[in-house]
Amino acid sequence: MAKFPEANARLMKNKFVCRKCKSVIRASNMMVIAGLVKCRKCKSRILRPARKK
Ligand SMILES: [Zn+2]
Repeated sequence: MAKFPEANARLMKNKFVCRKCKSVIRASNMMVIAGLVKCRKCKSRILRPARKK
């Protein structure tokens, strides 16, 4: 099983979903934790990982 850092990140933590309007935002995990990522639509900073379970 080959491991690509980029693919791994994409699968793991690179996608976030706005809790307000549910639009999907692609951002690095670090950026989201640092609070630098805003939803494009509603400008909310409340995001959750795209993979819930
Ligand atoms: Zn939003």
